[in-house]
Amino acid sequence: MTTPRTILVTGGNRGIGFAIATEFLALGHRVAVTARSGEGPAGSLTVRADVTDAGSIDAAFTAVEAEYGPVEVVVANAGMTRDMLMMRMTDDDFTSVIDTNLSGAFRVVKRASKGMLKARFGRIILVSSVVGLLGSAGQVNYSASKSGLVGLARSVTRELGARGITANVVAPGFIETDMTAELPEAQQADYKKSIPAGRFATAAEVAKVIVWLASDDAGYISGAVIPVDGGLGMGH
Ligand code: NDP
Repeated sequence: MTTPRTILVTGGNRGIGFAIATEFLALGHRVAVTARSGEGPAGSLTVRADVTDAGSIDAAFTAVEAEYGPVEVVVANAGMTRDMLMMRMTDDDFTSVIDTNLSGAFRVVKRASKGMLKARFGRIILVSSVVGLLGSAGQVNYSASKSGLVGLARSVTRELGARGITANVVAPGFIETDMTAELPEAQQADYKKSIPAGRFATAAEVAKVIVWLASDDAGYISGAVIPVDGGLGMGH
């Protein structure tokens, strides 16, 4: 058993974020999700927020705090891709991905840390990707944004670690979501050959690791990068 907490998951209306919210709900936590569109799973509180806008993040946290009290666990999951070989990538392709995936996580973590410092308790979990440390042709923007999350979590650990707050990174490999379902079957088969586990993961397999990192049992883990990638990124 773990203590029931107030959880906020960004981008909880679909994909991995929806699965994360679902797992927390199943354990009896108070779960809020941010969404620009759509809704989180039944039983969660959906608040509108765009992670590129600090004002909308502040408003979302304020709404969650009014309903459930201070956020004790934050999962910065919202993310986007805009893939393109570097020579053809525009400044806007690069900065918009950084602004959502890395600066967005910074804004969310900064806002969350206010309440966590007061409570002297907090769990910060950043959703990165195997390509953050492995690199990926056509994804210099995405890969840079995802490796930046490691420096973010580790610096937050150094700043806030003595206040009962942990900050960790979860780095998923290929996950069965809308994104991977769109890949041609031949390409999916090729990717699967390069994954020691020989398959993609379900979103629930990522979610269960995140739920554990937020649990009472994981209180001494901070600044870690936890791969959930079937062995794809081994050695990083
Ligand atoms: P989806 O594309 O299915 O969902 C992305 C989520 O992020 C949506 O909820 C989306 O909201 C939200 N989002 C995007 N931009 C913003 C923004 N500016 N403000 C607020 N919310 C935003 O992605 P996945 O579920 O596949 O991925 C979730 C996370 O996991 C991402 O960070 C991704 O990089 C990472 N990841 C995914 C992998 C995979 O194989 N799928 C592998 C490794 C990492 P909306 O619906 O409104 O657009």
